[in-house]
Amino acid sequence: MNIVEIGKMNEDQARDYLETIRWPNGPVCPHCQCQNVTRLQGEAHRTGAIQCNNAECRQQFTVTVGSVMESSHIPLVKWAMAWHLLCSSKRGMSATQLQRNLRLGSYRTAWLMAHRIRIAMEGKPLQESMSGVVEGDNNSK
Ligand SMILES: [Zn+2]
Repeated sequence: MNIVEIGKMNEDQARDYLETIRWPNGPVCPHCQCQNVTRLQGEAHRTGAIQCNNAECRQQFTVTVGSVMESSHIPLVKWAMAWHLLCSSKRGMSATQLQRNLRLGSYRTAWLMAHRIRIAMEGKPLQESMSGVVEGDNNSK
């Protein structure tokens, strides 16, 4: 997947793409971490809605709930592009570059996205997967 391919996605495709990144083994409820979930289909539900089947939880969520993308009005395809750009460029990317690449209307939006993604990259689960890789290397000497 490259940035041009991501840029051609519609919102549903971008959501699927973000889901495979966030949940490589299938959706996980952000409220109770349960994997027993059901996709909600049809007009009555917001797109991408998933229902948790844990009897003590029963919350609905989408891929953005509990992430730095939650309650953002920025299209998911822009988020998908921003993740890709910030994670794939070794020296990082300035908000100005991000604004230009994503054709965002305002510098403030670009800054906010870059800021949130950097926060997410410092925390779980990326930090854990990084430390996991380091430990793996140490164990295999
Ligand atoms: Zn749940």
